[in-house]
Amino acid sequence: MVKLGRTIKLRLYPDTRQSEQFLAMSQEYQRLANIVSQWIFDHEFQLSWLKINHHLYKLLREKSELNSQMIQSVFRTVSARYKTVQKQMKQHSYRYKNEANKWIKVPRNLTWLVKPIQFRRPQADLVRQSNYSFVDEMQQISLTTLGKRTKLNFTNKGFEKYFTNDWKFGTAKLVHNQGKWFLHIGITKEVGDFDTKDNPQIVGIDRGLRFLATAFDSEGKTLFFDGRRILRKRKKFLEVRRQLQSKGTRSAKKKLKRLAQRENRWMTDVNHRLAKTLAALYGPHTLFVLEDLTNVTFNTDDLPKSLHNSHRSWSFFQLESFLTYEAQVIQSTVVKVNPAFTSQRCPKCGLVEKNNRHHDTHEYWCKKCQYRCNNDRLGAMNIKMLGQDWLSGVKQPKIKKLTTIG
Ligand SMILES: [Zn+2]
Repeated sequence: MVKLGRTIKLRLYPDTRQSEQFLAMSQEYQRLANIVSQWIFDHEFQLSWLKINHHLYKLLREKSELNSQMIQSVFRTVSARYKTVQKQMKQHSYRYKNEANKWIKVPRNLTWLVKPIQFRRPQADLVRQSNYSFVDEMQQISLTTLGKRTKLNFTNKGFEKYFTNDWKFGTAKLVHNQGKWFLHIGITKEVGDFDTKDNPQIVGIDRGLRFLATAFDSEGKTLFFDGRRILRKRKKFLEVRRQLQSKGTRSAKKKLKRLAQRENRWMTDVNHRLAKTLAALYGPHTLFVLEDLTNVTFNTDDLPKSLHNSHRSWSFFQLESFLTYEAQVIQSTVVKVNPAFTSQRCPKCGLVEKNNRHHDTHEYWCKKCQYRCNNDRLGAMNIKMLGQDWLSGVKQPKIKKLTTIG
């Protein structure tokens, strides 16, 4: 089984009094979080929830209006934050050059912290049922406050589809943002694994610029997802960016930042839709095969000159991560294969030849067997073939270039 995770955001509609109650509770939660953080800092970074509970529970319970569930929620939240920081510190060793001018790496741990982790904003993590629950046939939500529980209206606009029995609701965060209140709830759902025994269909996907994606499937069908409209829009973004950059004023800088955010949001949306479309088109039990683009420099030949440097590889990785998620939902999966020679191998006779590829006409033409096809399609065909290898047990499928040609 695979566990899928999401966060849904519900807008809450508290009245003035409820809003005050939420604020008071969040501030009290923050106060206790900082006390617990100080205690962890003073006690050799003891992160065991049981030990923290043993030492602090009674003390805090006597001095705080938060109920017992919420106090335990504080312990969990603070301990989890330290664990996250611990992980980050482990990943980023301290580096320095010694006298011999050699780089020395020193692993870091929590003892490198010079002060306790600070909880700077009011917050509150609410446990399902104990601290929040849906009532009145899901029409209202009931929340813990410092005093009695309180009921209020909410909207689940955009997240309606998660209100089904197969999604489990976990801990929620009460969030105050620009005068509005929200409840961010972590939800999970268990789905079946991708199983190679289900006779999966294989879809090779070539990511590109002229075509956002070219997909080639087990039945030999090819689908092209046009990228030209995207390229045009990006070119427009670039023009506006250039104009703003040449101005260099403060307001221009502000506008630049907003423009970048807008472009990222738009690209994210494009990737989201593409991943969803691919998952919907091919359906359950599909092996999506992508090239592993880590450490690959991108070929920008197909781009207009003005866009050569603006190409952003994050967009490719984002599509990969969205597709991985969408695939999991439908018992499908994504496998990544070595990208070497995927645009040079003839699918008919197996010859690997760079010069078979003609960039100007977007065509592949095999010198040996005369096989001809569109070069985006060819990439997807070879990627699909590598997926076939993976399915038959090859751990790291890859195209080998033979030195002797018969
Ligand atoms: Zn050939």
